[in-house]
Amino acid sequence: MGVSVYPSATAMVWPGEGHAHEAVAVPGVRLAPGDVLVEVELATVCGSDIHTVLGHRQAPAPLVLGHEQVGRVIALGRGGARTTDGQRVSLGERVVWSVAVPCGRCARCRRGLPQRCLSLQKYGHERMRRGWELSGGFATHTHILDGTPLVRVPEDIPAEVLAPASCGTATVAAALEAAGEIVPLDGALVLIAGAGMLGLTAAAMAVEAGARVVVSDPLPERRDAVLAFGASGVADPSAAAGSPTGLAAVLAKVGGRVPAPTVALELSGNPAAVRSLLGAIDVGGVLVLVGSVSPGPEPGIVPEQLVRRLLTIRGVHNYAPRHLEQAVAFLVQNWRSYPFAEQVGETFPLEAVDRALAVTTHPRVGVRP
Ligand SMILES: [Zn+2]
Ligand SMILES: [Zn+2]
Repeated sequence: MGVSVYPSATAMVWPGEGHAHEAVAVPGVRLAPGDVLVEVELATVCGSDIHTVLGHRQAPAPLVLGHEQVGRVIALGRGGARTTDGQRVSLGERVVWSVAVPCGRCARCRRGLPQRCLSLQKYGHERMRRGWELSGGFATHTHILDGTPLVRVPEDIPAEVLAPASCGTATVAAALEAAGEIVPLDGALVLIAGAGMLGLTAAAMAVEAGARVVVSDPLPERRDAVLAFGASGVADPSAAAGSPTGLAAVLAKVGGRVPAPTVALELSGNPAAVRSLLGAIDVGGVLVLVGSVSPGPEPGIVPEQLVRRLLTIRGVHNYAPRHLEQAVAFLVQNWRSYPFAEQVGETFPLEAVDRALAVTTHPRVGVRP
C-alpha cells in the first residue's frame, strides 16, 4: 500500500565516520501488510548511536540512526497491525516499538531469543535501502515492519520519559529478569556499575522490586543523580582503598550485617568494573553483564572462584518483547516518583542531529522532528 507524505518525510542519513548527517526526503512509503507508519514525536540519543558515529562500533553506512523514540501511528498496511497484547492498532495511537524486528519463525526465535533472530533487522542499525528508507528514529517518520513488537503508551506521560523505553528501559528490564531468575530481587543488595541512563533506570527498577541498591560510578555528578533514583549508597571506583567513598565502605554501610551484594549489574562496559563486581558479589550471587558491547581486554575470570563461590555470570544484549511491555508498565507506574523526564538534558531539532550526537554531558539528549 503506497502512502504519500506531504510535506515529505525526512530521514537524517549518516554517511559514515567523519561525515555530517544529510537530510533525505522520502515522499512516498510503501507499506506491506502488517507494516505501520509512525510520525516520530521525540527520539533520544542512546550511547550506542554516539559510539557508532565515533567509529567505535561497526555500522553499515549509509544508515538512519536512532532506536529510542515515541511516535504516533499515521498509516497502517493492509490488514492492520496489533500491539504485543494482541489488540488492533488504530490510527492516531501513541506507541513505542522494539529495537529488533524478529522473524518469529527461526530456531532462535523459537528458543525465545528474538533479539538474536537469525534474520534479525534492527531500527537505527541497517544500511539504508530502497523500500525501507525510514528505518531509524532520527527521522520525521519511522516505517515499522510487520512483526515488530509494538506497545501502546498513555497520552499523559512526557515523551522524554517514553522515548528511552525501547532501548535503555527495556534492556534494564531484561537484565533484572536475568538476575531475578537466579537471586530474588526482593530483599537483595544490588550493586550496579555505571550511573548513566541504564544505571539510573536499573536503580529505580531494582528499588521498586524490593532491593537495596548501591551504585558505583567515577563521576560525582552521576553519583549524585542516582541518589534521586532510589540508590541507598554511591561509591567512587577511583577512591583510595579504605576511603569512606570507596566501594567496600559504602557496601558495609548500606549492607549492614550482610555487606556483600547477591546481585551485580555491569552497565558501564568498563573491564575494571567487571572485575570489581565479580570480586564483590557474595557466594551464590549473580553478575549480569550488559555494558560490555565492544571487544576489550579479558577481565581475568578465575574458574576456581566461580566454582567455589557458586557464582553465575549472565550476558544480556537487547531484549525480548515482554521486556518492552515491562519497561512501559514500569515507566507508567513510576515516572512521577523518579526524575526520568529531567534526564533528557537538551533537545535539538532533527536537522541538528550531529550536534545532539556530540553532547555527552546528560544521560540522554532529545532529537525532535
Ligand atoms: Zn540503544
Ligand atoms: Zn527469527
